[in-house]
Amino acid sequence: MSSVTIPPPACMLRPLEVPFRYLFGPGPSNVPPRILAAGGRPIIGHMHSEMFGIMNDIKKGIQYAFQTSNNMTLAMSGSGHTAMECAVFNIVEPGESVLVAINGIWGERVAEIAERMGMKLIIKIMPAHSFVILHILQALAKYKPVLFFLTHGESSAGLVHPMDGVGDICHKYNCLLLVDSVASLGAAPLLMDQQNIDILYTGSQKALNAPPGTAPVSFSERACHKMFNRKTKPVSYLLDMTHLSNYWGNDGKPERIYHHTGPVSGFFALRESLAILAEMGLENSWSHHTEIAEYLWKGLEDLGLKLFIKDKDLRLPSVTTIAIPEGYDWKELLAYIMKHHRIEFTGGLGPSVGMVLRIGLMGYNCNKANAAMVLAALEDALKQCRKSKA
Ligand code: PMP
Repeated sequence: MSSVTIPPPACMLRPLEVPFRYLFGPGPSNVPPRILAAGGRPIIGHMHSEMFGIMNDIKKGIQYAFQTSNNMTLAMSGSGHTAMECAVFNIVEPGESVLVAINGIWGERVAEIAERMGMKLIIKIMPAHSFVILHILQALAKYKPVLFFLTHGESSAGLVHPMDGVGDICHKYNCLLLVDSVASLGAAPLLMDQQNIDILYTGSQKALNAPPGTAPVSFSERACHKMFNRKTKPVSYLLDMTHLSNYWGNDGKPERIYHHTGPVSGFFALRESLAILAEMGLENSWSHHTEIAEYLWKGLEDLGLKLFIKDKDLRLPSVTTIAIPEGYDWKELLAYIMKHHRIEFTGGLGPSVGMVLRIGLMGYNCNKANAAMVLAALEDALKQCRKSKA
């Protein structure tokens, strides 16, 4: 037998080190001790009856958070992208048309996913703006897509998209409405059933304050009808909703059959985060995020900074975008704030790179003390990092 030739790496013989950071960017956000403790509970088997009980609780927690009575509600084993891909893979068949509203990076991502799958793609681009209902209606009438994608909380632009009426016009044209609420769930009002949203997904790591790695998703009856009456199988085995609906006990079958090993600790943490939201109440959570965001926006303007989204009603309360102030290097501002204040903000993403700084105060992180800390750090950085007198 040959012997080991590669020695244990020196880094593996040192203890894990994780610095403390204030995660005030667009996510992940800091995880409160209660959720960390839930995630640290001893593991049980992913097919144990107690685990199925916890998954049933998660389903109820998501139904509350999404305001839906959809039976096909579950959490994906994976981040927000997993839910995004799952929705597109399961709903649309190759050759069918998808209409994607792009006003930041998330529409771009969905467009790329659909394109890779050989779907016919119609895209509507409008950077950092909201879409006018009439324009959506005209595109639906013209292209007759089977799916329309819209981001509720565009975290790359800092924009929250009005949802009223969008589902109604989609249904008029026999099109399903897919909505991304990764950055907005719990922070801005969203009512899945009342707003006629067919597929809604979010992520665990933003206003829900759970660690990254699980992603709630829900499908309406109409969405289920389409995805369970396909001619072809979805390209992904892992994300095939036929299997996932059984794993989550949603298919009415008496037995759940092994499909994959779910992230048990991640589900414990997600359950706790949904419990915190249920205890607080959705409406309180929405109004709290708005109140803190307004305090932050006023403070930013008092510092002489310009908010990227001019219309206050279109500003996402969880993620604020600031136009990069003239005479500053945005990377230097971020590095200074990280070094001297241990605070993470980020720059733009996709189309907003080089245009904005992004500040996120979500869930547990969303309070006046943190907003004041953000303002103090920015005030200091603006004094220290000025490049020119512009
Ligand atoms: N959609 C939006 C609006 C997001 O903000 C993010 C994460 N920044 C995603 C989707 C992707 O989520 P994840 O990173 O969890 O895959």
